[in-house]
Amino acid sequence: MQKIEHIGIAVKSLGTAVPVYEKLLNSPCYKTETVESEKVNTAFFQNGPNKVELLESSDPDGVIAKFIDKKGEGLHHVAFAVDDIEAEMKRLQEQGFVLLNEKPKAGADNKWVCFLHPKHTHGVLIELCSERK
Ligand code: ZN
Repeated sequence: MQKIEHIGIAVKSLGTAVPVYEKLLNSPCYKTETVESEKVNTAFFQNGPNKVELLESSDPDGVIAKFIDKKGEGLHHVAFAVDDIEAEMKRLQEQGFVLLNEKPKAGADNKWVCFLHPKHTHGVLIELCSERK
């Protein structure tokens, strides 16, 4: 694991949340992107070396909609940058962590991603991500 690449925050509406985070971080949203496979619309902010990803469900049955139904808006995941995502997935699986996808998936912001089940990480959904080259 290299560093925290971004944190993901589940929101009901990017339309209302983006202006709030622009004010909070005092920097504009630099990218919005829909990830069809995840039924999610994302908006990214850069704040110094840190990134924040806002996630809005693009479908009432999407994972973000379900998350908000259960827990309300708020912190959804913490993403760590890794060099070799497949090697890191293998290492973590051997350590007993449960991966939510067997193979790296194409995520937002030109990344390969893999999620770890929060049951084994004390309640925090962990994302691994590496650059898609
Ligand atoms: Zn993320």
